[in-house]
Amino acid sequence: MSKVLIIEDETSIAELEKDYMELSGFEVDSVADGEEGLKKALEEDYDLIVLDLMLPGMDGFDVCKQIRDEKNVPIIIVSARKEEIDKIRGLGLGADDYMTKPFSPSELVARAKAHMARYERLVSSSQEKNKVIEIRGLKIDTTARRVWIRGEEKNFTTKEFDLLVFLASHPNHVYTKDELFREIWGMESVGDIATVTVHIKKIREKIEADSSNPQYIETIWGVGYRFQA
Ligand code: CA
Repeated sequence: MSKVLIIEDETSIAELEKDYMELSGFEVDSVADGEEGLKKALEEDYDLIVLDLMLPGMDGFDVCKQIRDEKNVPIIIVSARKEEIDKIRGLGLGADDYMTKPFSPSELVARAKAHMARYERLVSSSQEKNKVIEIRGLKIDTTARRVWIRGEEKNFTTKEFDLLVFLASHPNHVYTKDELFREIWGMESVGDIATVTVHIKKIREKIEADSSNPQYIETIWGVGYRFQA
């Protein structure tokens, strides 16, 4: 359940906001003091904060700025101050929205939902960022399937790329050619494990400064290969 914090010193307004938010299925905490509100906002995890500006303890501008310095949470300012300058200041301090009193509680709820949905999208898209492996000048973007060595991009075939990523994802682990063959070419594959040797050679030509003295994929004689972290 999404959690909302209301920081508002006028009891009737705080109750109105709370009622509408709860009717929309949110869990609501409400505090009437700026300083106390800031403390709660920083200590607990809220999905949205509704903030008044004229508050005892600490004014809403300061509360807004300090929450924003520490947290990525949508903040809606609801204030009796109608001056454009207050709106500009509030948004400049990191508030996501500014509504003036008297306000429509259902519009507040609609805006609250929109901001929460937008933040959720932002968070999930940043989590879907490409997975990148970086080891001593070798950079592999496993999502985009691109490889750079010392800043220069190299082209890899599908199997070369899969083999490199598998080894680089398990650094310092020794794999036999059989294990690598099964891992990359699959159990059902018919083929010669010498394929692994050929692919390792191709990868080394692309990423090693000196293929005869490899710094990334090391040959463990009589056993297999190991990626050095
Ligand atoms: Ca107030």
